[in-house]
Amino acid sequence: MKLKKILPILLLLPCMAYGQDEESRFSTKYMDTKAKPGTDFYRYACGKWLDTHPLTAEHSRYGQFNHLSEQNARQVRQLIENLAANPQEPGSLAQKIGTLYQLAMDSTRLNAESYTPIKPLLQQINQISTRRGYMLIASQLMRRGINAVMFSLYFDADLKDATRYIAQVYQPSLTMGDRDYYLSNDEHTLNIRKAYKDYVTELFLLVGNTPQEAEEKSAAVIQIETQLAQANYSRTKLRDVEANYHKYTFEALQNEYSEIDWSTCLLQLGAPAITEVSVAQPEPIHQVGKLLTQEPLDNLKAYAEYKVIDNAASSLSDDFRAAQFQFYNKTLSGAQQDRPRWKRAVSLVDDAMGMAVGRMYVEKYFPETSKQRMLQLVENLRAALAQRITSLQWMSEETKKQALQKLSTFYVKIGYPDTWKDYSNRHIDPALSLYENLSRVAQFETADHILRRANQNVDRAEWLMTPQTINAYYNPTTNEICFPAGILQPPFFDPTADDAVNYGAIGVIIGHEMTHGFDDQGAQFDKAGNLSNWWTPADKDKFQQRTQVMEDYFNKIEVLPGMYANGKLTLGENIADNGGLNVAYQAFTEAIKSKPLEQKDGFTPQQRFFLSYGFIWAGNIRDEQLRQYNKLDPHSPGRWRVNGALPHIDAWYKAFNIRKNDKLYVPKNKRVQVW
Ligand SMILES: [Zn+2]
Repeated sequence: MKLKKILPILLLLPCMAYGQDEESRFSTKYMDTKAKPGTDFYRYACGKWLDTHPLTAEHSRYGQFNHLSEQNARQVRQLIENLAANPQEPGSLAQKIGTLYQLAMDSTRLNAESYTPIKPLLQQINQISTRRGYMLIASQLMRRGINAVMFSLYFDADLKDATRYIAQVYQPSLTMGDRDYYLSNDEHTLNIRKAYKDYVTELFLLVGNTPQEAEEKSAAVIQIETQLAQANYSRTKLRDVEANYHKYTFEALQNEYSEIDWSTCLLQLGAPAITEVSVAQPEPIHQVGKLLTQEPLDNLKAYAEYKVIDNAASSLSDDFRAAQFQFYNKTLSGAQQDRPRWKRAVSLVDDAMGMAVGRMYVEKYFPETSKQRMLQLVENLRAALAQRITSLQWMSEETKKQALQKLSTFYVKIGYPDTWKDYSNRHIDPALSLYENLSRVAQFETADHILRRANQNVDRAEWLMTPQTINAYYNPTTNEICFPAGILQPPFFDPTADDAVNYGAIGVIIGHEMTHGFDDQGAQFDKAGNLSNWWTPADKDKFQQRTQVMEDYFNKIEVLPGMYANGKLTLGENIADNGGLNVAYQAFTEAIKSKPLEQKDGFTPQQRFFLSYGFIWAGNIRDEQLRQYNKLDPHSPGRWRVNGALPHIDAWYKAFNIRKNDKLYVPKNKRVQVW
């Protein structure tokens, strides 16, 4: 049940936010003043931070976002352990959170149970004897969050009628995360594929298959996934909104994709009868249909078996977790050592009952005054963006009017939701295994999702991130910007810091999310959240020419020797950073007109605005992780969100006196100028 469209400020981290920390606050002591701002502004702004926060064995990336989440995880641990240590009233939220944490921490029990918790599911799969039977079991597994039907099916806003949820069918998600891993034949990818084969084989061995069975089954799984990868859209194509929207009546769906038993799928999922469906990517779904009808049944069964084990691995005995770590964390992203059990347990509780944990967090740590200050900042940013739109030279009055209307109807969410998710029907039973409890949670989530969304009107008040998340998002179909409590702490938002620091950090983040409403994707949605054109053809052309400059610029950035950034994949995020910087800087300039700032630590307010921006992106990252993100992540790496973004901001040149012969210099007529 994934939401595909929201636009967060960075890839989602398994992270929690608690409390405040002196070390996280912006400070010029983390600068490397030996570096030159015009040569490597990133190093200049946060070089000492990079040096003093080296990667430890468990991290493949360690930046401000991780730093916050690490510190806070320790505090959450304390909070949860208090619940777990004391008897709690059965059925209370405290009992549910405490019990789940205890189950995740009980290594003796987990190791004794080994894979017993998934045996009933493996037996069910083993007994399948027909394709109809396969679809039945695979659809039941879908309810538990296990994807053996290959495609995803969930309810989300209809892109062309954003007031209604519609059933959406989405292309298969691949275990390795991107089709390239299955299809590319460079040395690096070949090594990853070999490690993947070992991983899949290992999982089959761990549940008692003979070496020969394990080999055969793993070959079948990879063969199926490779065929899925061949038909899947690339990440770049997935960003083409129109190309990912195909609406059918339910009858037309059944005719067009007749190889798939849609009725069984919906029935087993627990969904009511539906009249319409949007198939995001037709060709990949045809490929699924082909596989479901033509692939030998034993291969399909191996695939379902693998999906069950892979899904369960982190909640079974240590040997399963070790296999998983070896592939996902070590091979794919370069980590050297697994996170300690307690951190994994904290994340697990957060994943399973995030809004309940969030409620505790907000009550304890989030000051109401932060919400008020944020509301004011958002309004200041909104006013600045309105000013900028009004004075754009390249856009006609007609389109400006539409853009301003869209801006004025942004729906703003700050801190935490007005109403809390109800967990009263959810039971966490200490007599059951960790896996079975999590499986029940997944079934509850599926039922809840369907109840709230199938054949329903869109609920604009729903939060798509938990309050403790250190992130923010824009959602085009509700035209909303959301800033969870987790990001409203230093270094992003600091009530004790001055405007230079706050506008350079949270100000740019607010501007970033607002600009998503007007990036290459967001600009295709109107103020009501519908995919509907509000541009004159001439303005649209000019917009595309201007964003093309951004795409071309990032295509030339060499992230690792021989590996270049993907300008098309990162276009929306790079536009959002560009707009965010410009809008926040303008709002900052307005703000200090009435409240002038002095120089501080030898830096002007304008310089500190940009230094604060550089500081939030401080982070070390392994080469393996860079390679993975270069395929998967629509965001540029932290270094390039600074060194790639600032050379397009006129005010930055002025603040640091950047000149023609500086390495980062871009001639004025080649700078991106969109919003
Ligand atoms: Zn973004």
